[in-house]
Amino acid sequence: MAIRHDWTKEEILEIYNKPFMELLYEAATIHREHHDPNTVQVSTLLSIKTGGCPEDCGYCPQAARYHTDLEGNDLMSVNQVKAQALRAKESGSSRVCMGAAWRNVKDGEEFDNVLEMVRTINKLDMEVCCTLGMLTENQAQRLAEAGLYAYNHNLDSSEEYYKEVISTRGFEDRLKTIDNVRKTNVTVCSGGIIGMGETVEDRAGMLVALSTLSPQPESVPINALVPVEGTPLAEQEQVPIWDMIRMVATTRIVMPETQVRLSAGRTQMSREGQAMCFFAGANSIFAGDKLLTTPNPDVNEDMQMFKALGLNPQKPFTKKSQPESVDAENSKFQNLGEKPKWSRPGHTIERNLAAQGKSKKA
Ligand code: SF4
Repeated sequence: MAIRHDWTKEEILEIYNKPFMELLYEAATIHREHHDPNTVQVSTLLSIKTGGCPEDCGYCPQAARYHTDLEGNDLMSVNQVKAQALRAKESGSSRVCMGAAWRNVKDGEEFDNVLEMVRTINKLDMEVCCTLGMLTENQAQRLAEAGLYAYNHNLDSSEEYYKEVISTRGFEDRLKTIDNVRKTNVTVCSGGIIGMGETVEDRAGMLVALSTLSPQPESVPINALVPVEGTPLAEQEQVPIWDMIRMVATTRIVMPETQVRLSAGRTQMSREGQAMCFFAGANSIFAGDKLLTTPNPDVNEDMQMFKALGLNPQKPFTKKSQPESVDAENSKFQNLGEKPKWSRPGHTIERNLAAQGKSKKA
């Protein structure tokens, strides 16, 4: 099946709303045409700088303005990261994804340390991914030169619903960062969250935005919201497993080559539910007991599930060869000390404001 970049919302809605068994069958068929159905890529997500974020994402306990029980920490050292990466490798992960709670990357010592972390993990023969917020073209080039394999930057939801969740940056900034990453050989990981109160049309709208990118993202994480006390979305109801399976299947159909990543919310899913997601085309998970800050199944539990389902972890650099890491002293790219102007729409989101005003004990 040829990759299409002209999906419309109506077409995607028609797929999403098909009778369940037909949807599953179609997605599983496309999945088998493009991927080994018994192989699942396993990533470990590592929060290298936790909490204290200036943004107001309504789902996120790392936003400084909300009152949650989260304990923040400054940027980890390169040695700490190396030790964690080695542990992840021993337990079967092929990729380490480093997340920092930043609005955007700032040139300077901390970014230089992140570049060193990228070099260090790449030299362990693991795929390295980063999610550091908004990024300029020069910063993307520097990450690529350090040996970055993938950059994660989620669209979160449809462009329309994005405004109901985040007021401190615009949807167009997300697309601009993805575009900056695309100017390098780093692959793109971009997806979103369901269960934030969005409509099915919004879910389809997000898939339009992702599938019409050319090329489509190499990886698309589908997260189910994990409501955290103190955040604006704390009271949201759990997403029905059927919605998760439908979303995975629809993503698989409209983006046949992409790795569809079953991300946050797996602790709320049964093994049977996760198995249906794999059947519907999910072929990647995050391993480790924490997903940045929210709970995730234990690695051993995942390996037992893999055994029961006859699934095998994907080897690193199966989809694309390992990038080279250029050492800092041989870098072609300079620290430009950039101060880019990312947008700050600043519209009012009532539930975000209400959560800001609420004390933890209220
Ligand atoms: S999702 Fe990222 S940008 Fe948004 S508040 Fe959390 S850490 Fe900050």
